[in-house]
Amino acid sequence: MARTSSHVAAPRSHCEALAWNAPGLRRWERVRVVRRTCDCETVFYELCQAGSLRFIRRTMRTAGAPQVEESDRWLAAEADAMWTALLFGLVR
Ligand SMILES: [Zn+2]
Repeated sequence: MARTSSHVAAPRSHCEALAWNAPGLRRWERVRVVRRTCDCETVFYELCQAGSLRFIRRTMRTAGAPQVEESDRWLAAEADAMWTALLFGLVR
């Protein structure tokens, strides 16, 4: 992967739990990936832009089909803060 790829830190002891939801049925929606973590990990994350809101998509590789879940949606500034917190192991 590119050297700019990021990896998430291990969860800290005070790590807060995000809500992870089944992907919504919004297939008409155009989603753009703003940032992503390195996909060398079993679990990787993407910061996605959908309209004016952003959310984090979590993909877990399993023996079968990858399991995809989405966080709640936030305004860009809040979503970017969540993304940073995720990378530092403060939310998961
Ligand atoms: Zn990697």
